[in-house]
Amino acid sequence: MIAILSKLFKHKRVVLPIIYLFFLVVGILVFNLVVVDYIDGFSVSINSIDLGIVKSKSDVQSRLSVIEKQIEYEKNIDIEFEDHLILYSPIETTLDRFTVQQTLDQNLKNHISYKCKVWALVVNNKESVFCRTKEEIEELVNRIEKKFVPKAGRGEVIENLTMRIMEPYTIEQAYSYYDAIKTLDEAVDYALQGTQEIETYAVQQGDNFFTIAKKFDINFTQLVRANEEFDPEKLKAGDKISLSLKKPVLNVESKYRFIKEVTIPPPVRVVLDSELLRTERKVDIQGESGRKQIFADKTYINEKQFEVVIVKEIPIKAPKLRQLRIGTRRTPNDILVSGAVLPPGMGVISDYFGAPRGGGRRHLGIDIAIPTGASVLAYRPGTILRAGWDGTGYGNLVTIAHDDGTETRYAHNSKILVEVGQRVAKGDIIALSGNTGKSTGPHIHFEIRVGGKPVDPLLYLRSH
Ligand SMILES: [Zn+2]
Repeated sequence: MIAILSKLFKHKRVVLPIIYLFFLVVGILVFNLVVVDYIDGFSVSINSIDLGIVKSKSDVQSRLSVIEKQIEYEKNIDIEFEDHLILYSPIETTLDRFTVQQTLDQNLKNHISYKCKVWALVVNNKESVFCRTKEEIEELVNRIEKKFVPKAGRGEVIENLTMRIMEPYTIEQAYSYYDAIKTLDEAVDYALQGTQEIETYAVQQGDNFFTIAKKFDINFTQLVRANEEFDPEKLKAGDKISLSLKKPVLNVESKYRFIKEVTIPPPVRVVLDSELLRTERKVDIQGESGRKQIFADKTYINEKQFEVVIVKEIPIKAPKLRQLRIGTRRTPNDILVSGAVLPPGMGVISDYFGAPRGGGRRHLGIDIAIPTGASVLAYRPGTILRAGWDGTGYGNLVTIAHDDGTETRYAHNSKILVEVGQRVAKGDIIALSGNTGKSTGPHIHFEIRVGGKPVDPLLYLRSH
């Protein structure tokens, strides 16, 4: 090398331009490397998605404030970017690789999320409903309270009303996503309906779908349908069924004194008369209804009555005794309405308990086919609970409440021979059979209810 150089130096005129050229080339290369190619910049990303390359963080910040104003104008609400999600990685880059503003703007708009400055109804320390304004949230609470203001019917008085929202709540400024903001009407609906929550319930001794539906205030049919894998007749303790429960965001408790005037039915005295046929009735004394004023303290939660305490009753007018004369002479077509003791030839069971009735419903009693006009007898002693037309299909219906809490129903009668409140003995004639209501031929529909739930009369009769 030295030999070559010293050799070249001997020809100075050739060497100098070569040296100049050499330094020029090196100089340009160094200039390019240091000054042009290596510019500090930042690669910008959100959740590993590249948004572009910028010279400084403030480039992004300044674009964000422009975009923020655009969105605020568009949506007509104050927003705040979740810009903590933006990641800046320092890189060395070249001028031509910086992302153009339009592309950067578009990428930021597509990938950065923002929350809106709103007002929240905070229930049990949880932000539950969002509206644009504080006034809307205040009006929401107001409307929910108003919704449950009790209304007095004819002849009723409501006094000393107090109402309160049961959950602790506050109204606070908050940030929410745009699509979580509700209009006032939406917010009211949501707060009333709440969220549908599915809970598992372990069946307890003595439960059935009917009692469970009552206990949790849910629709019986929907409950059965939601638990199709269980046979309603064979539900047993420990079975895990699912309950779909509605949980309103806010619940309103209302307490008030309720005053109402009610009719007192006349007490009925029955005189037995062996001269009259068992189907015959005579009114000896017409009697008269009385009136009284009832004072009760009621507590409601939302629409549901929670507690009623009768405080006092003030008699206004005493009822007057009504006396009925009832025959005891047997007729040839008396029939005891209970499958087990049907006299031979006096009617046949034409349909059994549990027979399918379409739409997933089942027959709730037994049907005894018998010509119209047969005597329908009380199966056990009790008090007449209902005696009249039933629009749901029973036709002329008699319901007896028995002293042990069970209930019997006798349906489709042509004539009713008893009155509400009247005591009847076992075997008393309560009606004449017929073909009224939802019925395809003359028959007696006989039903036994235990705890409100229909049971198979034949099984029940055998075990009692
Ligand atoms: Zn029937």
